[in-house]
Amino acid sequence: MIIKTIEFIQSVDDWKKCPDLPHPEYAFIGRSNVGKSSLVNMLANRKSLAKTSSKPGKTQTINHYLVNNSWYLVDLPGYGYATISKTMREMWTRMIEEYMINREALQLVFVLIDVRIEPQENDINFINNLGELGIPYAVIFTKSDKVSKQKLTEHITMFMNKLKESWEELPPYFVTSAVNSTGRENILEYINSINKQFYIDKSV
Ligand code: GDP
Repeated sequence: MIIKTIEFIQSVDDWKKCPDLPHPEYAFIGRSNVGKSSLVNMLANRKSLAKTSSKPGKTQTINHYLVNNSWYLVDLPGYGYATISKTMREMWTRMIEEYMINREALQLVFVLIDVRIEPQENDINFINNLGELGIPYAVIFTKSDKVSKQKLTEHITMFMNKLKESWEELPPYFVTSAVNSTGRENILEYINSINKQFYIDKSV
């Protein structure tokens, strides 16, 4: 897919305020510092489209970008800040869950995982919660340029084995690097194929 246009639409703190145009949408989420802003910028082929990660304590928002006038890329606030208060954490959980459950046009949540490190409990918990909520997702392993091929395979296998403990079917996954644009085409093509199905379903 070629990205011809991408425009920032809005930042909101409640799913009810999300744009009402019925485009299919794809949300990106992960632990803070996982490389989400870098990935969004890499996919969009822009230097600084995504805002740098909001610091703990700041307002956390759902950010919509409209791509090629036909789909939304949604940048969700990250989880896993060590210093965040319980109240903030609860607000985050509520905002994200309500968004994911209620947003009808949401096709898929991309969960970003830092491929350099071993499976983290909060990532696994987040994914298992998606299962309980019935939200379709795919995994994006980030920062692949920072590890050897061997470590890459090892960590992906470890992560998938961890998921196997609670999932019968494993999710699709993508390996990316924001530094050399690894995985860009695969992700955009994957989105493209879901978009096509979305518009076919809408026309019948
Ligand atoms: P966010 O908090 O999830 O939005 O993470 P950022 O996109 O701000 O990235 C966190 C840090 O990781 C920054 O220093 C980035 O430069 C770095 N980073 C992100 N993606 C990559 C990548 O693919 N390769 C490398 N080498 N560094 C990355």
